Amino acid sequence: MTVRVPLSAPRAGGGGDASYDIRIGRGLLAELPAILARTCPAPSYAVISDSHVGPRYGEALVASLRHAGHGADLYTFPAGEWNKTRETWAALSDRLLQAALGRDGVVIALGGGVTGDVAGFVAATYLRGIRYVQVPTSLLAMIDSSIGGKTGVDVPGGKNLLGAFHQPRLVAADLDTLATLPAPQLAAGIAEAVKHGVIADADYFAGLERDHQAIAARAPERLEQVVRRSVEIKAEVVAADEREAGRRAILNFGHTIGHAIEATSGYGVLHGEAVAIGMALESRLAERVGVAEAGTAARIGRLLSRYSLPLELPDANAVDRLLDAMRHDKKARAGQLRLALPRRIGVMGEDAQRGWTVPVAESLMRDILTNIL
Ligand code: NAD
Repeated sequence: MTVRVPLSAPRAGGGGDASYDIRIGRGLLAELPAILARTCPAPSYAVISDSHVGPRYGEALVASLRHAGHGADLYTFPAGEWNKTRETWAALSDRLLQAALGRDGVVIALGGGVTGDVAGFVAATYLRGIRYVQVPTSLLAMIDSSIGGKTGVDVPGGKNLLGAFHQPRLVAADLDTLATLPAPQLAAGIAEAVKHGVIADADYFAGLERDHQAIAARAPERLEQVVRRSVEIKAEVVAADEREAGRRAILNFGHTIGHAIEATSGYGVLHGEAVAIGMALESRLAERVGVAEAGTAARIGRLLSRYSLPLELPDANAVDRLLDAMRHDKKARAGQLRLALPRRIGVMGEDAQRGWTVPVAESLMRDILTNIL
């Protein structure tokens, strides 16, 4: 199936608007050379992948691109969030320069969200920006990070603080690759699916509750439905607000606390796990400030637990460091934290004056983090 992301803004550098298709299916990797020849033709493709996905899927992809008559090379970097850095961006960019990849070349980001973010940022900046294609292989990347055009790297001061909006030409999610994804990574992806249910679709959330065993066991049709519905939700939200001027902020539910947990744990907690803890705590906060209906936080917590996702801070003594990390959050305005909070499952809080985020006092955030309810 194909989901279109309609974007009205012109594409940087010309060439019409920035709309693109998200293709979801089985066996798409094998079809990619033909798909690319139609949708994103180039004399040369730079396949960027991490050290897990590169050997597993990247080498075969490069071989099939070459077999189809395209120029193609594989560029790998060490796997792990702690490698989503300026150094990795610089090393990959230097290698593309050495290979003399031209302005008409195309970057293929093959892997999880780390690969998508760093390869997308390479494409956004290389020769002032070249085309790129997202080929997500983790559940999280398929349903979330490959869509929306946010690219970037982490710095010691925090997550994703250097980056650019750069829309892909195509997203191609081959569901067959999910078979090799480690179980904790699958659960981490489910955390973003839970978020999509909370922010936009109560029925979808209820389906994640009802069918949790089938989904966790990777029942092919059920997993495919999850990918499809999450992709539709993410595509709809980002299409309406390409640069996060308004409603797109709802996608950040769970991420203010989540990003702070990731950064202060030295990236020892997976992104999706940190978002799960973030959603559990931010929904409690939403009830405390009177935005969320009573019982919302308990229901979110129960669902996350069913997928073996954590709900509590990994280090109860890290509260000061978490608050410090949040002060550097991109979403803070004039030094004040702002959070997108649910009203109930499927509906986010919106206020005529304040929009989609509400200011949150640091003292209240401290209470939530220290479990004073
Ligand atoms: P990841 O890219 O580190 O992938 C998780 C692990 O799974 C890695 O070890 C990877 O090598 C491995 N892997 C991926 N696909 C595999 C497969 N098919 N088989 C076997 N192993 C596989 O992490 P992630 O959870 O995919 O993504 C998290 C990142 O996404 C974070 O950096 C987060 O900030 C970012 N993100 C970005 C956006 C955005 O809009 N740009 C949105 C959400 C998250």
